[in-house]
Amino acid sequence: MTTERAEELRALLRHHDHRYYVLDEPEISDAEYDALYRELVALEEADPTLITDDSPTQRVGGVPLGLFAPARHRERMFSLDNVESSADLLAWEARLRRALGHAPKGYACELKIDGIAISLTYENGRYVRGATRGDGVTGEDVTPNLRTVGQLPLVMFGTSAPAVVEVRGEVYMTDAAFGELNRAQQAAGERAFVNPRNAAAGAVRQKDPAITASRRLSLWVYQVGFIEGSLRFASHTQSLEWLKAAGFPVNPASEHVADLDGVIAYVERAQARRHDLGYQTDGVVIKVDALAEQAELGFTAKSPRWAVAYKFPPEERTTRLRSIEVNVGRTGAVTPYAVLEPVFVGGATVTNATLHNQDEIARKDLRIGDLVVVRRAGDVIPEVVGPVVAARTGKEKKWRMPTKCPFCGNPIVRNAGEAVARCSGGFSCPVRIREYLFHFAGRGGMDIEGLGFKTVDLLLSQGWVKDPADVFLLEPERLRAIEGWGEVSVRNLMASIDAARHRSLARVITALGIPLVGGTVARSLARRFRTMTALLDASAEEIGSIDGIGPEIVQSVRAWTKDRTNRKLVAKLAAAGVDLADPEPIGVDGGMLAGVTMVITGTLEGFSREAARVAVEERGGKVTSSVSARTTVVVAGEAPGAAKVQKAAELGVPMIDEAGFLRLLADGPAALG
Ligand code: NAD
Repeated sequence: MTTERAEELRALLRHHDHRYYVLDEPEISDAEYDALYRELVALEEADPTLITDDSPTQRVGGVPLGLFAPARHRERMFSLDNVESSADLLAWEARLRRALGHAPKGYACELKIDGIAISLTYENGRYVRGATRGDGVTGEDVTPNLRTVGQLPLVMFGTSAPAVVEVRGEVYMTDAAFGELNRAQQAAGERAFVNPRNAAAGAVRQKDPAITASRRLSLWVYQVGFIEGSLRFASHTQSLEWLKAAGFPVNPASEHVADLDGVIAYVERAQARRHDLGYQTDGVVIKVDALAEQAELGFTAKSPRWAVAYKFPPEERTTRLRSIEVNVGRTGAVTPYAVLEPVFVGGATVTNATLHNQDEIARKDLRIGDLVVVRRAGDVIPEVVGPVVAARTGKEKKWRMPTKCPFCGNPIVRNAGEAVARCSGGFSCPVRIREYLFHFAGRGGMDIEGLGFKTVDLLLSQGWVKDPADVFLLEPERLRAIEGWGEVSVRNLMASIDAARHRSLARVITALGIPLVGGTVARSLARRFRTMTALLDASAEEIGSIDGIGPEIVQSVRAWTKDRTNRKLVAKLAAAGVDLADPEPIGVDGGMLAGVTMVITGTLEGFSREAARVAVEERGGKVTSSVSARTTVVVAGEAPGAAKVQKAAELGVPMIDEAGFLRLLADGPAALG
């Protein structure tokens, strides 16, 4: 049994090695590969007679495809043993102590860069060859391709360059370059790359160096290999210093630590910061620092005994896409999401992931039944990265947006030029109204305390509320008849509904949930139009003339205000006693601050900048951002801008403090007296 399983695992790992190292198109995630690998190691450890020379545990990487000339490394390039926990690190240190007779003198800790390993040869300080790792003995000659990597020094600094030196490092793609590449792929109608590592590996192994150059690769070096000449180092850390001085990019996070506690602390720090780097790391590489100790420890068939890779928990796994379902949101938007075979990734079990919209599914070419890569990194919501096309059987099915809403049966429509499809059922769609009411009553909207999902569900299930205005027509007697609704809860809810009749127009607009209109845009609209009636009648030009409101928002607002159902809802809200206008301003034209142009600088205690501006504008004044001859007065709060104060002094513009500002608001320019 075990012999067969070992044989099976060897065959599987060989297959995946080929896909990963040679084709740059893995079919399984690294975590799944590592699990198969560990299983084989365990079998071989229990019964060493199972070990064969060609076992993936005995050799590095994959055999090159033959696209490039072979490049023999002067010194072998190795892989690294993986560890996953502090306990593994302790066990490693115990092995080191046994072999050395004492604990190592110190460790070098480095980020494990998730890219592709390369070896660079310099002769008398000049770059002469760049090669991939290949099987560790022979790699592929990619000299012209690597020459395109900006950080690669073509000539080393200093005069003491050895006759020959091999420098090892990792070529990788930053997240920004990766994003840019995928945007370009999409624009050209090509498939997106699933991760920066595969994209980097593919870019290095291009026949045309111009393509490599266009992919914006980056480089970190982390090791000196073969040296011909008298240069010698006492420690790894010293060799990194030398590399840095010679002009090579050495990762600034590299650190020397004294002992294993230092290693563990480094790993924790690196893991906490892994998403702030702008490039991918999949772990920490820990190396025994003293080169004499390294020499004493030596190598196994595949890796050095003096180094290990601590792998962070995986953030990418493959799983099966079982089906694609849709949700309806508060605006009626129909959003597809993936139903996945549960998979543990990034520290949580993922069963669903949003797919955003129809175009996104088409762009990723996701099909039901596909094996898919799922990513969950840090606090970012889980994402379906893409399908594993190589694993398709032909039975996978393309997905189409349903024509009818699964919750209300009304047609799903998609307006030309819009990425989102929407349920046309309006408030008759039970899912849409539920989401809508929750938003409507929420903090940023009408702020009706006590009207959360639970109460919303009750009102809907009883049929008392069919649209948001019905909330204001709720009869308390009905609630009293419901079990669990005591007098106090009924009274509280009714009081908060009552209070919600008198919200600012900005809140009402936010609550109405016009697509693309959040709190900020709602405030701008309210300031400009003051009443809901004026907003309903506003032309596209009027709306578009407001600062910060672009054509998409204009279109969305106009579509909303023209819609008959929406207009009816507004009328019903008004009939239910909801305020749909802000109080009359003291006077815009001819207000007491008409003709006054003001600059506000520094912090005011009683006003936010916005509130101060509104107060001035309500009185017909104007607030601008720079002091000029046209400025009537400068209001200087706490810590005012020095340049503004100086300019005001130069131009002889009067300056007032917050108390003066209050007087100005109350009495008009007379206060400047
Ligand atoms: P590895 O990635 O576990 O570690 C060794 C490599 O780490 C080195 O060769 C080097 O390229 C890199 N590295 C990054 N930063 C480094 C640093 N600071 N110092 C030294 N080295 C550094 O080993 P590997 O042999 O390259 O690859 C094996 C791993 O690749 C597996 O554990 C698996 O996760 C993945 N793999 C996946 C598949 C798949 O199908 N998904 C197939 C094969 C391999």
